Amino acid sequence: MAILDISNVSKSFGGVKANVDISMSVEQGSIVGLIGPNGSGKTTLFNSIVGTYPIDGGSIKFNNREVSELPVPVIAKLGLLRTFQQTRIYGKLNCIQNMLISHKPENDGILTVFQKIPSGLTDKAETLLKFVGLHQKRKLRAGDLSFGQQKLLELAMALMNEPKMLLLDEPTAGINPTLINGIIDRLISVNKDYGITLLVIEHNMKVIMNLAQRVFCLAHGQMLANGTPDEIKNDKRVLDAYLGA
Ligand code: ADP
Repeated sequence: MAILDISNVSKSFGGVKANVDISMSVEQGSIVGLIGPNGSGKTTLFNSIVGTYPIDGGSIKFNNREVSELPVPVIAKLGLLRTFQQTRIYGKLNCIQNMLISHKPENDGILTVFQKIPSGLTDKAETLLKFVGLHQKRKLRAGDLSFGQQKLLELAMALMNEPKMLLLDEPTAGINPTLINGIIDRLISVNKDYGITLLVIEHNMKVIMNLAQRVFCLAHGQMLANGTPDEIKNDKRVLDAYLGA
């Protein structure tokens, strides 16, 4: 069953056609890669899916519900969240505080550091920090973590809201190659242990080949190809798109 179903989505910025007639679907429980050269429209598609940009045409269904007209917080509440290539953490707050502040309560307000913390929330934050290997650093200022650790913190922050699907924008970009396998393992565990569907933009082909069951490739704003990692790796159109970029 598809958790995300995108049909004929288009989005332009003035004269720039960032997404042209994009269709793709993501099976519930899967890990799917989104690749393509710089400027091919990956980030625009992410922004359209989570509601940051209104689309010009087409349909985006999440769990069979049309979400393309809904605002970001409503889509987030339905369980569809994204992370960013440049992490969005609060550098002056410690890890636990970042976790608590990222939790969006049902009433739509934001939890501030001055509010009474709902019972159980700190436990949940600690459990998730353990999961990403940051428990020992929970009292450290997030700004003092390494970039890779900040990415893991951001992942844990997203998990505070119990998403059904996560859109990850280059989860291994800028990370020391020796730490990349650790990130891959965590992402596989997010998928398997927490049952969260993942759609991952990634430039590192080795990562995407190890992680994804299916890969979609964009070029010049259009869907160029999709297939298993092996099929995509050997697809001449994909190779040409990268070489020509
Ligand atoms: P990718 O993520 O694959 O690198 P993007 O989605 O960022 O590609 O960009 C696709 C095209 O849309 C590019 O030509 C880019 O310059 C353009 N674009 C993206 N966002 C904006 C924006 N907010 N305003 C104007 N043009 C944009």
